[in-house]
Amino acid sequence: MRSCPKASAAFRAATVSKSASICSCARTKASPGIDFLRGAVSYVRDQLGYSAGDFLYEMCEGILASNYPVPDRMLKLSELIVGQYLRREMVGKHPFVGEFDVFAVEGGTAAMTYIFNTMRENHLIKPGDTIALGRPIFTPYIEIPTLNDYQLKVVNLDADVANGWQYSKAELDKLRDPKVKAFFLVNPSNPPSVKMDDESLQYIADIVKERPDLILLTDDVYGTFADDFVSLFALAPHNTILVYSYSKYFGATGWRLGAIATHRDNVLDKLIADLPKEAKKQLHARYESITTDPDSLKFIDRLVADSRTVALNHTAGLSTPQQVQMVLFSLFSLMDTPDAYKSALKRLIRKRKQALYEEVGITFEDDDPNQVDYYTILDMEFLGERMFGREFVDWLFKNTEPTELLFRLAREARVVLLPGRGFGTAHPSGRVSLANLNEADYRQIGRAMRKLIEEYVERFNAATGKSLDKTKVK
Ligand SMILES: *Cc1c(COP(=O)(O)O)cnc(C)c1O
Repeated sequence: MRSCPKASAAFRAATVSKSASICSCARTKASPGIDFLRGAVSYVRDQLGYSAGDFLYEMCEGILASNYPVPDRMLKLSELIVGQYLRREMVGKHPFVGEFDVFAVEGGTAAMTYIFNTMRENHLIKPGDTIALGRPIFTPYIEIPTLNDYQLKVVNLDADVANGWQYSKAELDKLRDPKVKAFFLVNPSNPPSVKMDDESLQYIADIVKERPDLILLTDDVYGTFADDFVSLFALAPHNTILVYSYSKYFGATGWRLGAIATHRDNVLDKLIADLPKEAKKQLHARYESITTDPDSLKFIDRLVADSRTVALNHTAGLSTPQQVQMVLFSLFSLMDTPDAYKSALKRLIRKRKQALYEEVGITFEDDDPNQVDYYTILDMEFLGERMFGREFVDWLFKNTEPTELLFRLAREARVVLLPGRGFGTAHPSGRVSLANLNEADYRQIGRAMRKLIEEYVERFNAATGKSLDKTKVK
């Protein structure tokens, strides 16, 4: 835009008339960027019903970045537009009563850091308290609670691989224990990349009716990869902190873009209001420098203040160019009907998965509607048993090193995978991200896996005198 002198005048004109000419240079050359921006202005004005002038002003001022972010939590129209995006992707057609607030943050990483910290500062979790984790889970959720900063006790809710990585009712029933202050969930999960089924979501929502004090945190950074995704935030909006990140869906980890959302009527604010007098007095003093009414400062605004040690609240907030980029990603997605981007991404990751398993020599039934496929787990136990039976796998566990799988794949396919299962305990499995390599690379990983399996079969045959056919394909 900078190189086109007519663009800014034309941009102004575009706010007046839809058919206004944008820029003559745009007419002669293909310029998808300008077309997108023109579409975005129309969308904001005609579909969302906001002032195009105000929108352009906020975007231009945001890009120029000559002021601190105001309001601190998030620029005004940016919050509304990102809110629309979250509503479409996380709530969808599910009924949702009321409004929610959004805090723009430096990725899901900052969201997690800020939430743990503010929950502790506001006495919602204290050393010795118990929280529940839905596992498998992104490992920082396992590591943070045990830090000296938090000293939390953890109850694990384990999803079952045999149950398509869903949680049994018995596991979810652990949330009924009043000792459990909060439940942290990654949905769709990481690493298995499976979304929680509707029945489990409803089951948790029903538990919350019994336990209105239970805090839920759902980290839905993979939600946008799922079909018709509905977040726990939609089912239990008054109890749930929603964490979202643009990193994965837009392949934009370097931008550091994330969001925290809370319903305007939420349990966090209620719990803070019901704190013992002493704690309230102390919190009054903590936030007194930034507001005349610290007692009614919302949890989400406490997050903002705490993110800059309260004293620097006036310079808090995500940098304005980052907020602009977040808005552009959100608008791109909102305007993309009927979901061409989402479908293209999904086709791409499914094709890579297919290529990988073709080389392993195994076909998989792609019939689980909750499978998201951002990651796939190369699981020697699961694959070995399917191809050569339990006896083979039992022998494998006794006679081979579980770490060999990851080292061999690193050496032979030049790919470093994270462990796939059994955090803390060694298990012969690796997590493959389907998001970032070319199809040929996935084939190479598949071939290396196949070679390793065949070697194990030869060793098994030699050691046991059996004669499994290593060329078998399943
Ligand atoms: C990648 C990831 C994050 C961190 O995302 P950033 O936005 O890049 O900081 C948080 N939670 C989960 C579950 C993730 O997979």
